[in-house]
Amino acid sequence: MDRWSPEDRSALMARVRNRDTSPELAVRKLAHAQGLRFRVNRRDLPGTPDLVFPRYRLAVFVHGCFWHRHSGCKRATTPKTRQDFWEAKLVRNVERDQQAAAALEGLGWQVMTVWECELKDQASVAQRLLASTRGLPPLSTSVDYG
Ligand SMILES: [Zn+2]
Repeated sequence: MDRWSPEDRSALMARVRNRDTSPELAVRKLAHAQGLRFRVNRRDLPGTPDLVFPRYRLAVFVHGCFWHRHSGCKRATTPKTRQDFWEAKLVRNVERDQQAAAALEGLGWQVMTVWECELKDQASVAQRLLASTRGLPPLSTSVDYG
């Protein structure tokens, strides 16, 4: 178990505010608006993808830029206190993400990552979702678009 100092805790709390408007929820709404059927938090799949589109074998991870180290993103900062602790912790997150993606791809899944900061442009995220699902032949012939 990690031990959290008061500084770590306050850094953490600053980043988990506003659960109702979480990036994950935003992506669910986008997918729903496109008429795409999905499941959430499939624990039987590597890394427990945030959204899974079984028909297209598409697994989507919605990643916070800080926790998952969005490369080149200004939100991927490192707290000023206890930098070694944070670096180690955040590097582990990235390693876990890479392992999960590789394992999913090994099982024949397509993996897509949506970064928190990308949700400023929801239309383009929706477009990527559609492209990822249209690019693949549906696994079933039944149609469930409204
Ligand atoms: Zn970012």
